[in-house]
Amino acid sequence: MPGKNLSRDEAQQRASILAVEGYQVRLDVTSAPDPAAATFRSTTTVTFRCSRPGAATFLDLLAPAVHAVTLNGRAIDPATAYDGARVHVDGLAAENVLTVEADCAYSRTGEGLHRFTDPVDGETYLYTHYEPADARRVFATFEQPDLKAPFGFTVTAPAAWDVWSNAVHDKVTEEGAARTWEFAPTQPISSYLTAVVAGPYHVARDHYSRGLADGTTLEIPLSAMCRKSLAQYFDADEILGVTKLGLDFFHEEFDYPYPFGKYDQAFVPEYNIGAMENPGCVTFREEFVFRSKVTDAAYEGRANVILHEMAHMWFGDLVTMRWWDDLWLKESFADFMGSYGLIGARTRYSSAWVTFANQRKAWAYRQDQLPTTHPITADIRDLEDAKLNFDGITYAKGAAVLKQLVAYVGSEAFFEGARRYFKRHAFGNTELGDLLGVLEETSGRDLKAWAAAWLQTAGVDSLTPQVTTDAEGRITELAVLQDGTVLRPHRIAIGLYDRDADGSLVRTERIELDVTGNRTVVAEAAGRPRPALVLLNDDDLTYCKIRFDSESLETLRTGLGDIHDELARALAWSAVWNLTRDGLMPARDYVALVLRFAGQEGNIGVLQSLHAQAKTAVDLYADPAWRGEGGRQLADGALRELREAVPGSDHQLAWARFLAQTAGGAEHLGLVRGLLAGSARIDGLDVDQELRWSLWLALAAAGQAGDEELAGELAADNTASGKRQYTQCLAARPTAEAKAAAWSAVVDSDELPNALVEAQIAGFALPAHRDLTALYAAPYFKLLERVWAERTIEIAMRIVSGFFPRAQTSEQTLAEADAWLDGHPQAAPALRRLVLECRDDLARALRAQACDRA
Ligand SMILES: [Zn+2]
Repeated sequence: MPGKNLSRDEAQQRASILAVEGYQVRLDVTSAPDPAAATFRSTTTVTFRCSRPGAATFLDLLAPAVHAVTLNGRAIDPATAYDGARVHVDGLAAENVLTVEADCAYSRTGEGLHRFTDPVDGETYLYTHYEPADARRVFATFEQPDLKAPFGFTVTAPAAWDVWSNAVHDKVTEEGAARTWEFAPTQPISSYLTAVVAGPYHVARDHYSRGLADGTTLEIPLSAMCRKSLAQYFDADEILGVTKLGLDFFHEEFDYPYPFGKYDQAFVPEYNIGAMENPGCVTFREEFVFRSKVTDAAYEGRANVILHEMAHMWFGDLVTMRWWDDLWLKESFADFMGSYGLIGARTRYSSAWVTFANQRKAWAYRQDQLPTTHPITADIRDLEDAKLNFDGITYAKGAAVLKQLVAYVGSEAFFEGARRYFKRHAFGNTELGDLLGVLEETSGRDLKAWAAAWLQTAGVDSLTPQVTTDAEGRITELAVLQDGTVLRPHRIAIGLYDRDADGSLVRTERIELDVTGNRTVVAEAAGRPRPALVLLNDDDLTYCKIRFDSESLETLRTGLGDIHDELARALAWSAVWNLTRDGLMPARDYVALVLRFAGQEGNIGVLQSLHAQAKTAVDLYADPAWRGEGGRQLADGALRELREAVPGSDHQLAWARFLAQTAGGAEHLGLVRGLLAGSARIDGLDVDQELRWSLWLALAAAGQAGDEELAGELAADNTASGKRQYTQCLAARPTAEAKAAAWSAVVDSDELPNALVEAQIAGFALPAHRDLTALYAAPYFKLLERVWAERTIEIAMRIVSGFFPRAQTSEQTLAEADAWLDGHPQAAPALRRLVLECRDDLARALRAQACDRA
């Protein structure tokens, strides 16, 4: 489609001549409950100035039909003005009023105005999601972050519904079966940040108030909503409790009153991402409303997201990046604030930095070693580039690097810099230099070299200790070796660990220093007794992969679980996982560590990531000849730990789920069936609805779930979640027919909504079914370009990544991937990037397998 992929150059050109004064957007969604109605009426009036009268410009719009275009009272024929992606107008005046009347489409992919009908009660729900550029699926707009303007929304909806937007509603008028909601104009914001949520949502309301320095009181009405059929599970008190702690904390840290009036948080169905920071109207994936027991890691994760989105109200919404190159400005900051805020706001999630070190950074390490990695400040040529850049570099590495920056300049200078940044750039747009500028002011340090090393280069460094000792076992020299494509300045702490009287490994010394270049001698360590374990980057101040000297590694093999401090232990777990991924530790050795020590891992989030990693180690990184044995060991371990776990504990639930993921033999599957039937019991384990589906998935994947049994489970749980899991179970059956049906449902039709595309792919692609899915490798490479051209980018990304034959870990699959890449140099760069990344994962798996075989 011409013009769908807006480029940075076009955006710059448009911003250079235009200043937008405001939008009036009228939406009529009264047709939404009728499944036969595919579209809704959308009318935009935008008022803007042009510094070059006579010039031409365009509005972005993705709509099935445009009925009328009027510029300054002059009617323009839509047939000539609209090309399917842009409304072109010329002959601009200095002051312009442009009106576009269109029919826009209800979305089933989570992009634009998403429509969902609840199978439980037949109610219909709507919400919008736009980032980076899908507001144009709902109304005509200048779709770029630096053309900020006040937006005034008017929404006509069924009379029984409520409607929310970024601002409060001024007026609601009822006419027949419809009500019209007029919202106050927003503050000047970017188009991707606007939002509408509409439907018969269940609402919980609360209020936050705070005295300000000028003697006035800031009043913020709060609400949280979800579908009516989820109301019984909605723990709004917990959500709003975290919200209030966050508002206290960010007001103290940022010294800038929350600028968007009220604060609504909507938990919405079939949401593509975790959450979105629409000012005053944040949207979250509704899986954060827990229908069944989840571990505390899930509550912590949700609280982290609440604070992440709240931080964006200042960093991202009040001050916004000029173009998507600087997406990291807001995402790195918010990602850092999610963890920092959990501690600072005194929530009950005191292990937030452990989770960050162990899980969030794993995302960054993976992404940063792909051939497609990029500097934190990226070069984003167009919207397709932008879409792919919501990645582990922009979020997790950026946040880790900000954590390092805080260690480097001190938290006082860092937050004083943030405060100045908000005041100086309120309601404006910024670039990297604007942030560095305030930080240089407040820290008194020249940050150009730091920024060049950390923000403008790609890749992760490895730090390795080198220890020499004398005859008495004293350290003669401890050096830190740095290895990487770029050698960076690292502020790190080094922990020296020994066994205490109880046998725990505890820190006996902490040395903090700057590491630069390829070898740094730690003068302070000389003369000390050689410790059992040297842990670099203790306290997780910097972003690097840590390695070990041979003696420390031996200590971990026999005693990793004995490390007393949970952050240090999490760092050790991360390090041995990186060794495994890098083909430096055999996968079976990693599995052995997990089987030996996971049972004593106290941190539930770390335990769950150990489960996922051990499964990956067996499925992808182990010698295929050992895979069966490895799988049996994991299932045996899961069963043993499940029986030993404290009844009713999070750990017990995590082990039960792990058993469901690994069960293969008769004994394990027999227990799974018994738990479902109620003939087997594990003391304290509540086999609730979500756990039931996990157990059914295990049986389905083993070919032991009958069609009628699965249909019976769906009948008992005929909900959105039930439908998803039922779909996944069907696709997970080990038959050629089941795989063909799943493949076809995704590839041959665009009828499926995003959530069911995901479920089909997840069931189809189980690694254990690699023999059944092998014949789809060749068709996969043939369909890539068609999928990219025909599907929305969100769905295309899922198909390209989800159906890549990742379980076919062979040189032949690697050659097929290379052949496609060699044969398609002109394919869309974003598509090539996805294939390159999957190809690299495959090559990594082959290297790890070679290590495991050796
Ligand atoms: Zn974010």
